[in-house]
Amino acid sequence: MAKAIEACVHCGFCLPTCPTYGVQGQEMDTPRGRIVLMKDVLEGQLDLASATPYLDRCLGCLACEIACPSGVAYRELIGPFRAQTAGQRRRPLAEKFRRWLVANTLPYPGRFRLAVRVGKFGKPLGPLLPAFLRPMLQLLPKRLPARQTWPVRIPACGKRRARVVLLTGCAQQVLAPEINTDSIEVLTRNGVEVVVPPAQGCCGALAWHSGDLPAARRFAGKNLDAFADVAKSNGVSATGIDAVITNAAGCGSAMHEYQLIFRGTERAEEADRFRRRVCDISVFLRQLGPLQPIPRPSRPLTIAYQDACHLAHAQHVRQQPRTLLECIPGVRLVETTDPHLCCGSAGTYNIDQAEIAAVLGAAKANSLRATGADRIATGNIGCLIQIRNHLAQAPLAQTKLAQTPTAQIPTVEQGSGIPVHHTVSLLAQAYRGQL
Ligand code: SF4
Ligand code: SF4
Repeated sequence: MAKAIEACVHCGFCLPTCPTYGVQGQEMDTPRGRIVLMKDVLEGQLDLASATPYLDRCLGCLACEIACPSGVAYRELIGPFRAQTAGQRRRPLAEKFRRWLVANTLPYPGRFRLAVRVGKFGKPLGPLLPAFLRPMLQLLPKRLPARQTWPVRIPACGKRRARVVLLTGCAQQVLAPEINTDSIEVLTRNGVEVVVPPAQGCCGALAWHSGDLPAARRFAGKNLDAFADVAKSNGVSATGIDAVITNAAGCGSAMHEYQLIFRGTERAEEADRFRRRVCDISVFLRQLGPLQPIPRPSRPLTIAYQDACHLAHAQHVRQQPRTLLECIPGVRLVETTDPHLCCGSAGTYNIDQAEIAAVLGAAKANSLRATGADRIATGNIGCLIQIRNHLAQAPLAQTKLAQTPTAQIPTVEQGSGIPVHHTVSLLAQAYRGQL
């Protein structure tokens, strides 16, 4: 951490890219300010409680890392800092309870499904419930899609070109299980055998991004075992697996950080080997070579691709999803004016920092509407839900958005019916002739 802190020359190039600076407008809510805060806390010159609100407001979007000319590895600061100071932080009881509730439901599909059902009854009572519970209730979907399951091994169609294992995720399985089904369909159609480890679970991203290192290690360790075991029990050596596929940017980003999660432990080397094989589905499909021909949709489509921060900034994946979408005949891609800005989802940020997340979500929805796109594509379940929610709402008042970096917000009609999909779902729909 000292190395990353020392690399900062306080030039401020990162400031305009920081969404929280755009909303809050103060130095302590900038990457530069947060680096100074972390340094002062670590050196014992500042008490943790004074720094915590500003560090909690960091989305972890890593837009600052991309913008930094000095190569400050911000990801080596914010995650490890949160993990290191987790035990010393004092939080109000209500906040502790909310964090406990989230940590003990979201990563477990069965519990999460149950919580959504129970929460639906509580939703009409929203205004009467304690304020700390309301953001969670607001995010609950009106209805849950039917549960979907996948066989352990799904053979490739035709001649096998590759074999991969798929992370099926946790909350995504409940909120949008079709993303996994669509991923398997697109992969197998293109000659890829897919193995789905049955013993896998949450990748640990939620715990890691909230500073709970022991839980992150538990989740990640379970997956290291599950992915190794499924390869063995299917008679496949580790070298017989071409990649570990993720289709959620947040999960992929956390899995790429397994070496940070296990740093200093006996599993550090294993975690480092594992994370080198983790690959977002868009990257893998581009590396695979030419795709099977995709039928032309019934009409030309205009698609706006929204970068998920954990894909674009954390994994440097920007072009691959766009190129994949352009493989669909007749598709025209359009861009927003703020592709680098976070939509405010960021793991559980839209629960923990609901107000800032709402401003960012509304701004993103407005800039996506302004593209005139028929469809919106993104590569992360959190962004997908956040954007859907904000497109369904009336645009936030111009006055509230005036402070944001997307200052030229267009006037739009209430709500927008623009469908939002995962990139791979649009590909699957195109293959099925459903576009
Ligand atoms: S751009 Fe990099 S070096 Fe400059 S202030 Fe930001 S983090 Fe520091
Ligand atoms: S990670 Fe995102 S929110 Fe946090 S300091 Fe960097 S740009 Fe700002």
